[in-house]
Amino acid sequence: MLAQFMGTLGLRLAMWQSDRYSAYGVTILLPFRSSSVREQVLKNVVAALAYIARYNAGRSERLRRDLRGILVGLTPPGSRAYYADDLRLCVLNGDVARHGHPGLLAAAIAHEATHARLRCFPYDTAAQRFRVERLCKRAEIDLVSRIPGGDRFVGLLRQELASLTESMFTDDAINKRRQARTTADADC
Ligand SMILES: [Zn+2]
Repeated sequence: MLAQFMGTLGLRLAMWQSDRYSAYGVTILLPFRSSSVREQVLKNVVAALAYIARYNAGRSERLRRDLRGILVGLTPPGSRAYYADDLRLCVLNGDVARHGHPGLLAAAIAHEATHARLRCFPYDTAAQRFRVERLCKRAEIDLVSRIPGGDRFVGLLRQELASLTESMFTDDAINKRRQARTTADADC
């Protein structure tokens, strides 16, 4: 619980320190001191949102309603993104947001927006969480399949889908990831 509170506090601080932008009806929060880094990240995130709007208009409309915004730069090591339920935020890894292909970034946003959409689904047991995670991963695959040239990412995402196991969603496994979240540094 404390770890979750500290994670939320860190996110609130990052939100407060962020420059705010809006694209395709989505708020983008960037807590970067360097204006050149901020511009690179903004350009890439806007390109990702443009992909979603262009190739999956329905999803674009839904994510506008389901997400409070996108915050870049405060994820655990090795994580592309996660959904902060208490703040309804999609949190993107700063390096991925800056250097990743916008198609993959769009997939990550679609994944976290699906978590937001499914937030009323039962999420108490490892089996329920496993089911939700698979649906979110399928949302990524569905999106990149629609993007021209996205085929090259489908194999990677299918592999990630196949590697998911129920044991990754036990209370213990989730607490360990939350712990990592509280100690992750913002890339700013
Ligand atoms: Zn997920």
